[in-house]
Amino acid sequence: GEGLPRPEQTRIMVVANQKGGVGKTTTTVNLAASLALHGARVLVVDLDPQGNASTALGIDHHAEVPSIYDVLVESRPLSEVVQPVLDVEGLFCAPATIDLAGAEIELVSLVARESRLQRAIQAYEQPLDYILIDCPPSLGLLTVNALVAGAEVLIPIQCEYYALEGLGQLLRNVDLVRGHLNPDLHVSTILLTMYDGRTRLASQVADEVRSHFGNEVLRTSIPRSVRISEAPSYGQTVLTYDPGSSGSLSYLEAAREIALRGVGIHYDPQHAHLGS
Ligand code: ADP
Ligand code: MG
Repeated sequence: GEGLPRPEQTRIMVVANQKGGVGKTTTTVNLAASLALHGARVLVVDLDPQGNASTALGIDHHAEVPSIYDVLVESRPLSEVVQPVLDVEGLFCAPATIDLAGAEIELVSLVARESRLQRAIQAYEQPLDYILIDCPPSLGLLTVNALVAGAEVLIPIQCEYYALEGLGQLLRNVDLVRGHLNPDLHVSTILLTMYDGRTRLASQVADEVRSHFGNEVLRTSIPRSVRISEAPSYGQTVLTYDPGSSGSLSYLEAAREIALRGVGIHYDPQHAHLGS
């Protein structure tokens, strides 16, 4: 792919929204693949016991596979669980297995229960440009571990009724974690997903989100696309499943916008590579 400026330090982005079905996993895997196709080295950390990100990346995550559960609960080094994503160079995944469903409870009695992921990432020595953490649809200890480990929160927002409902709770948690555990934490990126420009509702929600958040909202939004929703059942991201599709091009463009913002380059949507 075309080269993009690389961040000076690894950017750790926590993909969070406690609502389910808003596009967290879809955004994590497709953005990660896009960044890798742009030349970056990227690790996806699957923190959802459902393991949807692992599935979508074609990563084996049956119960016996070394996983992020072992890292969080058994203090196993991250390097022992990371697997390469076979069809995208530079893309890696720390998978989730069903064990992780118990971790929310098991973590409670462990020392440094909120910072176990942070420690594991700090000890990981492979060079990376980005780490994207796919959170479960809750604000429990798994999500708190992600918020302690990363500096940036990326919130996908589905362009539907009640899009902003419940976000207050997430934002309060971000403030709490910033105040007590991770002073660098901030909401850096809002991404509008499943956007259908033909409906009034979608553009109203988009306007509302833009007036509420301002600069954090990416200029690029992700269209509703059947190709995006089909790709995971083939263990692929849309980037390899259907490279020329609107879904693929929009994630590549969102990745470009994120990379440019990260190094302080003004993103000009006039020069978007969307083709349409
Ligand atoms: P979350 O991780 O927040 O629960 P997902 O990423 O799993 O949400 O997305 C929920 C559902 O919506 C999935 O079936 C996914 O394939 C579908 N989906 C996500 N983004 C899009 C999109 N842009 N177009 C069409 N379907 C999408
Ligand atoms: Mg998910």
